[in-house]
Amino acid sequence: MPPTLLRARFVLTMDDHGRVFPDGAVLVRDGLVEALGPWTDLRPHWAGETEDLGERILLPGLVNAHCHLDYSSMRGALLQPRSFTSWIRRLNALKRELSDDEYLAAIAAGFAECAAFGTSTVLNIAALPELLPRLPPPLLRTWWFWELIDIRSPRVTDDLLAGALAFFDGRWALDKWHGGWGLSPHAPYTASPMLYALARKAAAQHAMPITTHLAESEEEHMMFTAAEGPLHEFLAGLRRPMHDCGGGATALRRLAGAGVIGPECIVAHLNELPPEDEFLLAPGGPLHGLTVVHCPRSHHFFGHQPFPLERLRTLGANLCLGTDSLASNRDLSLFAEMRAAQHAFPALRAPELLAMVTRRPGAAPGLGGPRLGQIVPGAAADLLAVDAAPERHSSSHHLLEALAEALVVFGGRVDWLTVAGRRVR
Ligand SMILES: [Zn+2]
Repeated sequence: MPPTLLRARFVLTMDDHGRVFPDGAVLVRDGLVEALGPWTDLRPHWAGETEDLGERILLPGLVNAHCHLDYSSMRGALLQPRSFTSWIRRLNALKRELSDDEYLAAIAAGFAECAAFGTSTVLNIAALPELLPRLPPPLLRTWWFWELIDIRSPRVTDDLLAGALAFFDGRWALDKWHGGWGLSPHAPYTASPMLYALARKAAAQHAMPITTHLAESEEEHMMFTAAEGPLHEFLAGLRRPMHDCGGGATALRRLAGAGVIGPECIVAHLNELPPEDEFLLAPGGPLHGLTVVHCPRSHHFFGHQPFPLERLRTLGANLCLGTDSLASNRDLSLFAEMRAAQHAFPALRAPELLAMVTRRPGAAPGLGGPRLGQIVPGAAADLLAVDAAPERHSSSHHLLEALAEALVVFGGRVDWLTVAGRRVR
């Protein structure tokens, strides 16, 4: 795409200052935002191409901070479960039935659905990274997190990680793909502390992001603190060594205490946070500033304990939203996730909800490359234009509120989305 000056009724930057430009302009060159401001300021200095987006609101493309595109063919396949453990068992059975081609089709369908809902970046857990070489260059900016599990054979952790790194090194067509790769020790009940330690070290060495599932269910909480419950029983049956369970400490406390997770980890869920663990996330604690991804509709599907949003916010966590997968969600719309979060936490204002799917996940540690989730000079030209009209407003502060409110209630499909300056919708 040649350098282009975009014009929109409103440019909502989502930057740290909350700037909004009515009748705004954004200059895009070589996949990046070069300049922005009022149209009347930029237009006189520009002789190149222009594109008028009309009455739309132009904002950063949305960032889905937790997703499993592999399971995009499973919409409606799993009923609301009696227990988290029974859901895992049924998911595993479904996974075994799918062929490689079906997984590839699911990933493609997942990308298309994300794009239709205005998502330009996906932090995606890849359970089958060996399929990556068969994928065409993805539509969206994607971080592929290699899912690491050593539940049955904790002795091969070294080999497992070395294999993952060699695979990435050898086959990644980074020049054509936007995003990168990362590591994801799956969860403390399926990945050993040793695997967490190795993954943390490798991620730091290779400047990769790292993500994991943590404290998702009450069953996981019971397993680690009390060595009991359905998940404990299920995993003991699989011959997982269970000596890290019992004695009252949560997995969060054990992993942080052992130094195998740190504040650079992108943690999905964290639904169970006993008050005695809060010091870990408090200022001066080993996990202060942790990025925590809440998946509101998946949370509702499982009927977990209420998400400790207020406490995490007070502790200074970088709170983001994700969709999780279609094995526990209806669709991959972050707009719907914002509405679900607003329903559960009426005190969340629309600008904060929008930050949870733009600026905040864009600032998640380890995502290299241009800045995401904000329209500022040098940021990725991952841009979204939405046909939504704000209510009347009385000041620039209220304009930000009004625009964010109009976006949160947006229920349609988007028709204009770019990734690195290229139209994908
Ligand atoms: Zn997940």
